[in-house]
Amino acid sequence: MAARVVPVDPFDLVVFGATGDLARRKLIPALYHRMADGQMPDGARIIGTARSEMDAEGFRALASEALDTFVPAENLDADIRRRFLGCLDYLKLDVSTPEGWTNLRGKLGTDDRPCAHYLSVAPRFFGMIAEGISKAGLVDANTRIVVEKPLGRDLASARALNAQLAEGFEESQVYRIDHYLGKETVQNLMALRFANTLFEPLWNAQHVDHVQITVAESVGIAGRGPYYDNVGAMRDMVQNHLLQLLCLTAMEPPARFEPDAVRDEKLKVLRALEPLIDPADVVRGQYRANGETKSYREEAENDSSMTESFVALKAKVSNWRWAGVPFYLRTGKRLRNRVSEIAIQFRDVPHSIFPGAGATPHPNVLAIRLQPDEGITLSMTVKDPGPGGMRLADTKLDMSFAERLAATGMRMPDAYERLVMDVIRGDQTLFMRGDEVEAAWAWIDPIIAAWQSAPAPKLYDAGSSGPEDALMLLHRDGRRWREIET
Ligand code: NAD
Repeated sequence: MAARVVPVDPFDLVVFGATGDLARRKLIPALYHRMADGQMPDGARIIGTARSEMDAEGFRALASEALDTFVPAENLDADIRRRFLGCLDYLKLDVSTPEGWTNLRGKLGTDDRPCAHYLSVAPRFFGMIAEGISKAGLVDANTRIVVEKPLGRDLASARALNAQLAEGFEESQVYRIDHYLGKETVQNLMALRFANTLFEPLWNAQHVDHVQITVAESVGIAGRGPYYDNVGAMRDMVQNHLLQLLCLTAMEPPARFEPDAVRDEKLKVLRALEPLIDPADVVRGQYRANGETKSYREEAENDSSMTESFVALKAKVSNWRWAGVPFYLRTGKRLRNRVSEIAIQFRDVPHSIFPGAGATPHPNVLAIRLQPDEGITLSMTVKDPGPGGMRLADTKLDMSFAERLAATGMRMPDAYERLVMDVIRGDQTLFMRGDEVEAAWAWIDPIIAAWQSAPAPKLYDAGSSGPEDALMLLHRDGRRWREIET
């Protein structure tokens, strides 16, 4: 059974870097799934461009191979594949040269259908492509441009990128993807908060003890070592994904679920973040070998690398709602398991009426799990069953989206499916606005600058929960991290 879908109008989608990893692994499968679910209209045109010499048939063969590799066999259908490949076209275009842009114009329709340009290329090409599209006279009110992290490496470069994009495009035409925002669970966080009366009255410093946001990966950096070594966990994960999750958790209810209403509220959270000045509130880590896996430095091929593969920090949102409530953020590579979650830990009961051993109430925790198994759990204290007296136990109300979808025969859509279709529909709600990106860098920059005086990250064993100092970050506050468990 397919999910309920509203078909979009015919569109043109130009994928720059269409032969690359992101295009083959995410975009092509996402578009195929939208066609399989009946959302892609007849007459949609998807034009791949890259430097490789290839004709449309060659690109279709590449896309077909990507489907075989990245779409589960049970979701592949010969007729849908044929129709999907029929939408594809290809243009060789070296974006670093002025030639070829007029050929792109020839590939696009002359009708006023939406046309999205997806920049699945290294960020050094973003400015060139924005300029190329604009100079070729390809920008009108229905044109959109899509970019994805890294959106700068500090405030100055993020501003420069925003300025480059603004030369050819209005802000309403720029779609900055953070694919975490396309995840079902993240949108469910907003539904949970703003479509129920249960949680919002408790969603404040009076009732919440603290919040933990974890994005733990079990993989290392093999395959992208030199790139990652120049970036590190703070820029690669905290500046974008973790801060976006913090914003959605902490923001005030927007008046409407509309792009600028939502983004205004997220921006207010970023601007309310207290500068992080105490070095003890940030822990940087780097994994060492554990016998089975290589160390970070070996994978980065840099014996003296000081780049962090792990960050844990304590953020504070200085406003009436959140004063005094720490938001603990942590992310890292080569950790024990692959887990992403937001956990809201509520305060202890003000007074326990149950005497004796085994009768201490556990604090309620609402955990919003992004991966591996998307869902929401609410930990509750209940009576341990049996006649052994009033003993208390921690139990979970568990809502697994994957299980629920599986029970109805539906498939969990990938974040890119939702986001690409939002671009076509012209809905920017789940995309970052330029000022949000800048506000996030403005908070991150001084933290990174302070590392100059203490450059060495703390070492942790690959496969562990991170460096000891990260445990101490919470221990000092009388708290502990949730286990990184699947
Ligand atoms: P990639 O190196 O696999 O692909 C790059 C593409 O750009 C190729 O198709 C290549 O032909 C094309 N290209 C290179 N130089 C060109 C030129 N001069 N003219 C025209 N085309 C040119 O890279 P990727 O992993 O697909 O990543 C693309 C972008 O997406 C990067 O900015 C990356 O940081 C970002 N990103 C990637 C992922 C991912 O999962 N791969 C995730 C998030 C963000």
